[in-house]
Amino acid sequence: MLCPFCKNLDSKVLESRYATDKASIRRRRECESCKKRFTTYEKIEFFPVTVVKRSGIKEKFSGKKLLKSIKSAGKKCNINIKAQEEFVNNLEISFFVNSQKEITSQILGYKVLEFFKIHSNIAYIRYYSIFQGLKSISELKDELNKI
Ligand SMILES: [Zn+2]
Repeated sequence: MLCPFCKNLDSKVLESRYATDKASIRRRRECESCKKRFTTYEKIEFFPVTVVKRSGIKEKFSGKKLLKSIKSAGKKCNINIKAQEEFVNNLEISFFVNSQKEITSQILGYKVLEFFKIHSNIAYIRYYSIFQGLKSISELKDELNKI
């Protein structure tokens, strides 16, 4: 990307986030030559992302559905709504940035667990039990020891 200050061609991306219209991505860049910062907008070309379940069944990824499941596992855990939305937005942006068209439900689940690990232990355990299916109290204890 051409630096508007020194016309150098190499810049590094510092941050990518949705523009307010959610149809483009705003990137903060830093010129590798003059180190000045500038912003670029990239139009999103929407493509469907497929979630592959453990059973092999494929399903269309839905950010709305994911947010709903996060909200339900995080109920009464005082997790900031903005942080939850941001998590889903960042995930969608990462699909776009990496041209990723498929994700396994396993990896998706781990990403949600990582999010909960930072924000709420209760939600983590709640989501873990839905996601992995806790089989026993000792398994629960093992999980609790990890966090
Ligand atoms: Zn420059």
